[in-house]
Amino acid sequence: MTDCIFCKIISGQIPSTKLYEDEMTYAFMDIAPVSPGHALVVHKHHHSDIFDTPERDLADIMSAAKKVAIALKTVTKCDGVNVSMNNGAASGQVVFHLHVHVIPRKTGDGLAPWPHQKAAPEELNMLGTEIRGHLK
Ligand code: 5GP
Ligand code: ZN
Repeated sequence: MTDCIFCKIISGQIPSTKLYEDEMTYAFMDIAPVSPGHALVVHKHHHSDIFDTPERDLADIMSAAKKVAIALKTVTKCDGVNVSMNNGAASGQVVFHLHVHVIPRKTGDGLAPWPHQKAAPEELNMLGTEIRGHLK
């Protein structure tokens, strides 16, 4: 896609700090890291989000993300990693070329997780039943 920043990174029109590349995927350092080593993994096919990405391409990305996570763990000596994906502006997605964040985490690093809310069991059951109905 001509006006996509990540397509331009994949093709080399925009520079990036490359970490990994194979036939289908490309991984590089996030320009504004949440923590040292924060990496992004993208598919070479342009898809905007999880909803328009074929399962096989998601599998390619996750496979590369695991390789990157292992390397980050070794290099940064992190205690864990967040592997996450924003889908849609409401979720915080800013670049609309599907990407997975791999973010090294250290115990007590102060990066606050999402706030959890209380939910009544009946509420979970009701919503769960409705969602299940769409997963057949
Ligand atoms: P999103 O919020 O869409 O899930 O995440 C987009 C990510 O891309 C952000 O973490 C942002 O720092 C990163 N990013 C945006 N533009 C560039 C760029 O030109 N180069 C690199 N390496 N990362 C970028
Ligand atoms: Zn793209």
